[in-house]
Amino acid sequence: MKYLNNLTEGIGNTPLLKLNSVNKGIKGTILVKVEYFNPGNSIKDRIALKMIEDAEEKGILKPGGTIIEGTSGNTGMGLALVAISKGYKCIFTLADKQSKEKMDVLRAMGAEVVVCPTNVAPDDPKSYYSVAKQLEKDIPNSFYPNQYDHPANAISHYETTGPEIWSDTDGKITHYAAGMGTGGTISGTSKYLKEQNPNVITIGLDSYGSVFKKYKETGVFDEKEIYPYLTEGIGEDILPKNVDFDMVDHIVKVTDKDAAIMTRRLAREEGLFIGWSCGSAVHGALEYAKENLKEDDVMVIILPDHGTRYLGKVYNDDWMKDHGFLEDRKFATAKDIIM
Ligand code: PMP
Repeated sequence: MKYLNNLTEGIGNTPLLKLNSVNKGIKGTILVKVEYFNPGNSIKDRIALKMIEDAEEKGILKPGGTIIEGTSGNTGMGLALVAISKGYKCIFTLADKQSKEKMDVLRAMGAEVVVCPTNVAPDDPKSYYSVAKQLEKDIPNSFYPNQYDHPANAISHYETTGPEIWSDTDGKITHYAAGMGTGGTISGTSKYLKEQNPNVITIGLDSYGSVFKKYKETGVFDEKEIYPYLTEGIGEDILPKNVDFDMVDHIVKVTDKDAAIMTRRLAREEGLFIGWSCGSAVHGALEYAKENLKEDDVMVIILPDHGTRYLGKVYNDDWMKDHGFLEDRKFATAKDIIM
């Protein structure tokens, strides 16, 4: 008989898929790694498992304990499903800009969700970082993984995402592209790939309103770079310990609108019902690819999560129009889509 003993055994080994439409006219083979094949529908299942196993090994997390995390939703989902398989409780703090769908999913998985204001400084006691820290102090036998700074985040990608990409491309990968949030995905995977072949070029995708690109290029943490934006999961107003800038060769910023439009194109043209930051990743990576890829090059782009969580946003025409993202007529009506 072939079955999983629990869902954690289904984490990882996600497929690579060749893009056939949105990359027309761009040289090279462009592959996407579709992380919604993980049981929690996102790449974050990988770090959830590793952070919990690490805490168990170190005796930080004991039976019956509570896991507390500040999460944009996907890490919460991963932690919730690993916690269920291992018998822990979960409390998550989320910024109020996050999709209602993400919050509902976490509640459906039995977790408690604490909603915090988005537009406050990270060290403000009301921020979702500060509230998570405070809850850990207040609740006995609790564990706050803090995905931003926990080394197990990047290590999980070094141990799983990197080797999977290397093996599935038979070592032919030349370019690796991923969005940057906590930095775990890009730093851990890139480290592994560069150890196999130092010539692999890594491209990070960042949002307007985030500090990463300027910091990489000038070494300056420029507060003027920080302003509100909409894309969920990438870009930061802090420098998480999991970002290793030495593992990132170039950073491309992507607007909310370009990301949203590419997300919808990936669904309609490639059949990939994926999340908003996937649109950022593909749009930014293709901008780079247009100028730099040669015929024999092989680029792998990470698609972190599934589209369900964005049905009320980028996949909703009214929402798109309200944000001025849908003036391009070809996305506006069924007739135009068929054309
Ligand atoms: N996209 C989405 C949807 C995410 O939730 C995250 C995690 N914040 C990322 C991209 C970025 O991944 P990482 O945190 O590993 O940099």
